[in-house]
Amino acid sequence: MAPRSERVQSEATSRAPAARPGALLLANARAVSIRRSAAVFLVASLVVGVHVFPGCAPLVPGGEPPDEQAPGMPSYQRPEPDPELQRAWAEVVEAAPLVRVGLERDVDNVSISADGPYRLTVYSESVETFDAGGGDVWHLSVGGAGLRGRAARESFNVRAGTVRAAPVDGSFLSVNETAYRGEVEVFLDSSGGLSVVNIIDLESYLRGVVPLEIGPRPMAELEAVKAQAVAARTYALASGGKRAGGDYDMHATVADQVYGGVPAEHETSDRAVLETAGLAVTWGGEPVVAYFHANCGGRSEARHEVWEMEEVPYLASTWDTPGGIRNLEKAYCSEGSGFTWRVEWSGRELDRLVADRLHSTASTPVEETPGRLRNLRVTERTPSGRVKWLEVETDAGTWRIYGDRCRWLLRRDGDRILRSSWYDLDVERRGGHVTRVVANGRGYGHGVGMCQHGALERARQGYSYIDILSAYYRGTSVRRVY
Ligand SMILES: [Zn+2]
Repeated sequence: MAPRSERVQSEATSRAPAARPGALLLANARAVSIRRSAAVFLVASLVVGVHVFPGCAPLVPGGEPPDEQAPGMPSYQRPEPDPELQRAWAEVVEAAPLVRVGLERDVDNVSISADGPYRLTVYSESVETFDAGGGDVWHLSVGGAGLRGRAARESFNVRAGTVRAAPVDGSFLSVNETAYRGEVEVFLDSSGGLSVVNIIDLESYLRGVVPLEIGPRPMAELEAVKAQAVAARTYALASGGKRAGGDYDMHATVADQVYGGVPAEHETSDRAVLETAGLAVTWGGEPVVAYFHANCGGRSEARHEVWEMEEVPYLASTWDTPGGIRNLEKAYCSEGSGFTWRVEWSGRELDRLVADRLHSTASTPVEETPGRLRNLRVTERTPSGRVKWLEVETDAGTWRIYGDRCRWLLRRDGDRILRSSWYDLDVERRGGHVTRVVANGRGYGHGVGMCQHGALERARQGYSYIDILSAYYRGTSVRRVY
């Protein structure tokens, strides 16, 4: 999950695009592309206000990122077509709304290719179409006072506009040599660079998300992967048009959900997506904001306790144990990494973290240089035991940090944020200054919503994905939304 401070920064810099020549053609092109996703935007507008907290914690440890791509060749090896499976996917894809996933923002250039025939259409003052074959590469870049495109035998240069690449006959497009399903749009964004957006049906998008969010899992854990698929779909449904001034719905990174396109796809997660297609977690008939995290440490956390957000009944604190009773030893996630942890800092390391991070995490402005750390104290805890207020006393004054934000101050192992906000501090001081601090903690991630390690263990013990989702999103039901 991205820190709040980084998110605020990214939103502040993503202004709405300025009016430009070709905007009308662009608008027409977009209108076609997003017609099917109108349902998404409608649903999204009904679900929540404007908060865009990411649904995701760090990957479940053990989840491997896709391999590096060999340059020049799309890596995807198409499986032998199974006609029955292909028919099932075709039906699912047809029913799903389209989403716009931001692959790149403010870049100078991008390459587009495909493993079969594809078509490039340039919408500017006029519309120009180029047919390309498998292996043909189009290089798009900022230049010539606008957007420039060149291939082996053809080129174009427009002052403004949008380039749309669409596969022909079931090819996969590649963006910078990573294969994606669906179509790709490239346009000059408000920062003067190029934005690259993958326009894809929601179910195909999930095939590239679920394996990166919960890891490539064995079939024995299928029910947990199905729960993850439903949670990820629900999260996406609540994200319509919220990024980059409305240029797209979601980032392809931890700021929303990590998306790796075709190379990320995996057998178990494909099956999980297909078997749950069109289903979402709902409360009061509407998709919920489906947060999840790697490991809750034995008890999940209510959303309003970690972030300054309104209380919602389905994101309450629950014991992740058989029968939901207080028994940390029996927690479903007790074998997962990060269930308990320990971090130690020297006084000097903490002085540096305070100097670098206090201004972006404290609840009141830090206008002076904080100086050396005098004390670090938990002054209030949430009902689950997580830190609600952390007090930081330095040579220059005393500041307080709310809830989950303390993880962005107390970094570990170089620059990684603290695993969770559930910890006890052992502070040693000498001569009025802190010399050493040990944190003994529980859990990995913000602790809100579904615990991925707990879900995996419940699946191994025979729970269904419906059981798993209702254990972590209290009072919700799984319903068909399309
Ligand atoms: Zn748990």
